[in-house]
Amino acid sequence: MTTTLSELNSCDLAAFVERLRGIYEHSPWIPERAAAQRPFASLAALKQALQAVVTNASEAEQLGLIRAHPELAGKAAIAGQLTAESTSEQAKSGLNLCSAEEFARLHQLNADYNAKFGFPFILAVKGPTGLGLTRETVIATFARRLKNQRADEMAECLRQIHRIAEIRLNDLLAVKLEFGPQIMQWSEDLAQWSDEPDALTCAYMTDAHRATAAQLLAWMRDTGMQAEIDAVGNVVGRYLSDDPGARTIITGSHYDTVRNGGKYDGRLGILLPIAIVRHLRDKGEKLPFHLEVIGFAEEEGVRFRSTFLGSNAVTGNFDMTLLDAVDADGTSMRAALAAAGHDCAAIPDLGRRRADIAAYVEVHIEQGPVLLEHGLPLGVVTAIAGSSRFLVELQGVASHAGTTPMHMRKDAAAAAAEIVLLVEQRCAQGEALVGTVGQLQVPGGSVNVIPGACKLSLDIRAADDSVREAAVRDVMDGLAAICARRAIEFKVEKIVEAKAAPCAPWLMQQLGDAVQRSGLPRFDLLSGAGHDAMAIAALTDVAMLFTRCGNGGISHNPLETMTADDADIAAQVLLDFLRRFSPQG
Ligand SMILES: [Zn+2]
Repeated sequence: MTTTLSELNSCDLAAFVERLRGIYEHSPWIPERAAAQRPFASLAALKQALQAVVTNASEAEQLGLIRAHPELAGKAAIAGQLTAESTSEQAKSGLNLCSAEEFARLHQLNADYNAKFGFPFILAVKGPTGLGLTRETVIATFARRLKNQRADEMAECLRQIHRIAEIRLNDLLAVKLEFGPQIMQWSEDLAQWSDEPDALTCAYMTDAHRATAAQLLAWMRDTGMQAEIDAVGNVVGRYLSDDPGARTIITGSHYDTVRNGGKYDGRLGILLPIAIVRHLRDKGEKLPFHLEVIGFAEEEGVRFRSTFLGSNAVTGNFDMTLLDAVDADGTSMRAALAAAGHDCAAIPDLGRRRADIAAYVEVHIEQGPVLLEHGLPLGVVTAIAGSSRFLVELQGVASHAGTTPMHMRKDAAAAAAEIVLLVEQRCAQGEALVGTVGQLQVPGGSVNVIPGACKLSLDIRAADDSVREAAVRDVMDGLAAICARRAIEFKVEKIVEAKAAPCAPWLMQQLGDAVQRSGLPRFDLLSGAGHDAMAIAALTDVAMLFTRCGNGGISHNPLETMTADDADIAAQVLLDFLRRFSPQG
């Protein structure tokens, strides 16, 4: 039996609680407390209100909610004691079809999990695309989450419960997502082209990269866009306004990936607007400006170690000397482009005229846990953090690990260890500041030799350039002091210095208004990662919309995930933003 939002908004309290009884397992107190906030402006607002009740509940109530759920593949599933909702959800994932080994493994995991946490393992077994998760995925997730700390795992269970509630609400209200499932399916389809088997790697101008571009081009043309692949490999589609003199809004993101990357990083920001254009075309609706959707060819820097090739070409800032860069096999970028049929000489002509462009807006998966932890599908980006990167070489004295007394050593690795802790300490003290030592090597190190040399990398980022510069100064001073005290020689090489790219407040405002019109609160956050918007900021004002990243916020990893519901509401918000867009000045 289905119902409607207006019915839920207008019925009496008892009927409201009764209709939502199956949404949160055996926990009618949740709809009871949320009812006071009626009427709900949208389904998104109803979901947020139900979530807020759980978030504001006592820990005992939260535990009660978790414990009200049946064990996945536990005894309850066999005895037929599940609610009607749980029975059909678990059957869809094929958990009722386990092999003997899988069944034994699940039961062992179940026992270990209960012993460690004292509540049942909860997983929305209907996956992100709406299909059931495979048994392999369920078991792998179970094993991974068993390693969590209790508080983190409890929070994860509650998030899974909210996801299950979302799926059940969609069924109850017979919701048909207009954009989300298509975007998720296209992401799956694109992931079939990879430079490596069993992983998603799509590096600049490889066969997989070119096949991906060809597919994007075909989809753009299918939706009625004028589309082409430009000289640098960007896939560019235009949905023209009826006013030929109109300015252009650019949206898009990159379609290359890191090694063994995720399916949504970059690609979401291309596929989502293609789905929007298809919707507009089907309705015969035009916008008062030209809309350009760009699949940028390169952002990650995997093959030639130079990033933002696609977006820099669009701003006219492509560095032509990069054409001589060579990949690990000795192939130059120039040769790779020529082999793909591209005319390198045409790249400088790709730069757009500033006067033609009204704005740039990019949708991107967050690649972090902030939205996930706040229980929000969308966030408005305030700025893309600036970054400073260094390579540090420490030189001590290698000597015998057995015969050199502790006070006579010049141990380069011990100095490095102090530096790592210094970076951690200093970067914990600053607004929107982070610092990381991601590479740490003892070249030619040996078990029985005191490290004579050590190499480390240093990455410091902040929203505010002066905060970052102050942290860099302090870390460099501290590093020099540590090395002086230990009689270690050091060399520091700066490899990246990128200023923060603030998003334009007028665009953030319009994007934030669209988020609020969808029934969600506006939530602003910083982007710690670099994005094409950073490069495009040289051409026009930019804004970004982040979508929630599942699995603890993991990205640049095959575990990166999101849901069709989040893709859908992001598309609705971007469409609403475009329809109501008002140019500055
Ligand atoms: Zn990206």
